[in-house]
Amino acid sequence: MEIEKVAKLIIENFPRDHKEKDPFKVLITTVLSQRSKDENTEIAAENLFNKYKTPFELSKAKEEDIYELIKPAGLYRQKAKRIIEISKIIVEKYSGIVPNSLEELLKLPGVGRKTANIVLYVSFSKPALAVDTHVHRISNRLGWVNTKTPEETEFKLMEILPKNLWGPINGSMVEFGKKVCKPVSPNCKICPISKYCKWEGKR
Ligand code: SF4
Repeated sequence: MEIEKVAKLIIENFPRDHKEKDPFKVLITTVLSQRSKDENTEIAAENLFNKYKTPFELSKAKEEDIYELIKPAGLYRQKAKRIIEISKIIVEKYSGIVPNSLEELLKLPGVGRKTANIVLYVSFSKPALAVDTHVHRISNRLGWVNTKTPEETEFKLMEILPKNLWGPINGSMVEFGKKVCKPVSPNCKICPISKYCKWEGKR
């Protein structure tokens, strides 16, 4: 009960609005976001989608064609390869429509559980819990879980959080993790859920 209350407090205090819901754009933007800051991901995604709007268009591009466009997001050679491979598979195997199941999304190259769950929640409104480093770290600090990997955290959180919070908790914990519960030197003095936090390093 307390966990649900605290999760709702995080969601209320650190809302994250997902303006883009198009499944293909959400999928490709999430690939671009790997090891990239939000602001850089946004620039790269905007550059890319200004020129290539659909999987059909991107599937015909060459990797070199998109290097400059996505460079701001970093790892651009690796990401270009993945993005074009994904676009080709979506065109050839799924007739240009991004699949809406975890199982099918996980078959796409470079798509892990976090990316797949973001697409399922943001684009298809399915209950899906995406766990990245922020969600993993904060859930452990709060004492909700005692886990070693994001995947372990995902399964534990699914046991203890009601389904309607699975989707929104990701974006809100990312905001909370960037603004307050940072990896190094968390700002516990201004933390709205400090009294519920079990972390021994609490400052
Ligand atoms: Fe994070 Fe500190 Fe808040 Fe605990 S009290 S959740 S460590 S910011």
